[in-house]
Amino acid sequence: MHTRRDFIQKLTGSLIALQISPALVTAGCNNIIVPYDGPLLRVAIMGLGSYGTRVAEAMKDCKKAKLVGVISGTPSKIKDWQAKYNIPEKNCYNYENFDQLKNNPDIDVVYVITPNALHKDQVIRVAKAGKHVISEKPMSINAKDGQEMIDACKKAHVKLLVGYRMHFEPKTLEIIRMRKAGELGKVLFFQGLCGFTIGDPTQWRLNKQLSGGGSMMDIGIYAINGARYMIGEDPIWVTAQETKNNPEKFKEGVDETIQFQFGFPGGAVASCLSTYSMNNLDRFFLNGEKGYAELYPSTGYGPIQGRTSKGELTQPHVTHQTVQMDEMAGIILEGKQPVVPVDGEEALKDLKIIDAIYEAVKTGKKVDLKL
Ligand code: NAD
Repeated sequence: MHTRRDFIQKLTGSLIALQISPALVTAGCNNIIVPYDGPLLRVAIMGLGSYGTRVAEAMKDCKKAKLVGVISGTPSKIKDWQAKYNIPEKNCYNYENFDQLKNNPDIDVVYVITPNALHKDQVIRVAKAGKHVISEKPMSINAKDGQEMIDACKKAHVKLLVGYRMHFEPKTLEIIRMRKAGELGKVLFFQGLCGFTIGDPTQWRLNKQLSGGGSMMDIGIYAINGARYMIGEDPIWVTAQETKNNPEKFKEGVDETIQFQFGFPGGAVASCLSTYSMNNLDRFFLNGEKGYAELYPSTGYGPIQGRTSKGELTQPHVTHQTVQMDEMAGIILEGKQPVVPVDGEEALKDLKIIDAIYEAVKTGKKVDLKL
């Protein structure tokens, strides 16, 4: 009689004999693994810094996406990455010559993971080279630039996605499912608290030329985006107030702490905080007429933890960037539709909101939003 163990042993033996790629997928039945033989997204990473490194490590476990190329201004980093990830010389570029990607049929998409203000020109150049692009958040430093990026990608017939990793996180998706199914009743309030104490005052995140702003561009954007996917609507107005306790560190145009409020068409309101001067701020709270949902931590690398009025959320921890890149492979290669969009238009809404928040801080007035 054939047991499931016999079957799995036989299958594993066959895989070794056939030298099939270690990329395996779990089939519908429990514990049975089958080799993945669908399309593979071949990715080049631009910007080999701290987040680029995290994405590269996470991609080792991807089934549908593979790191095959790099773009960097530092030759020694390129050498290290070539050795570590088995990247061929012909897939290595610097910031001067990456337009030559157009002659490279072995790269499908470039993931831009550089300082915020550089995304716009880099994404547009990648699009002109005929490659799909994933940009890190924020997609750019204002809505005007974001629109230009979208237009350039449309013109070049390439896809533009943005690294919104939380859109694939299981506990987040469960709350969205519950809200959509009406299990929380009519949602009337969201609170998003996002912040950390930033260190080194000389880093690019505190240089407006490279960052485009301060905490809002970096961490506050999670509360903006989160308010939208948790409530399931786009805000119609915003008010905002800034507090700056350390003007030496947080220079003109670099926000330290901003509180902001949204109104939504269905009557819900949101109250959010973005800061570079407080730790332990990573919490989402959603309140409906029939129940509530809380994530704390809500947007860090995990494990994300949460509960709702029905009890603890028990969905498994996943490496966000692994799941994100597999899902993005599905979007780019197979036209899959994510539950929460991750395209340029989605990111443009956040940029319009950031523009409006800065305007509200400056004028002290309520700013209407048309997304
Ligand atoms: P980082 O400073 O660690 O890395 C930035 C990389 O860009 C470095 O390798 C640096 O050499 C390179 N670079 C190229 N041109 C540069 C220039 N002119 N000035 C400075 N550096 C230059 O930063 P990071 O933390 O990796 O952030 C990069 C991007 O990723 C940012 O847009 C950030 O918002 C985003 N990010 C996203 C997440 C997320 O969870 N989705 C997390 C961290 C960072």
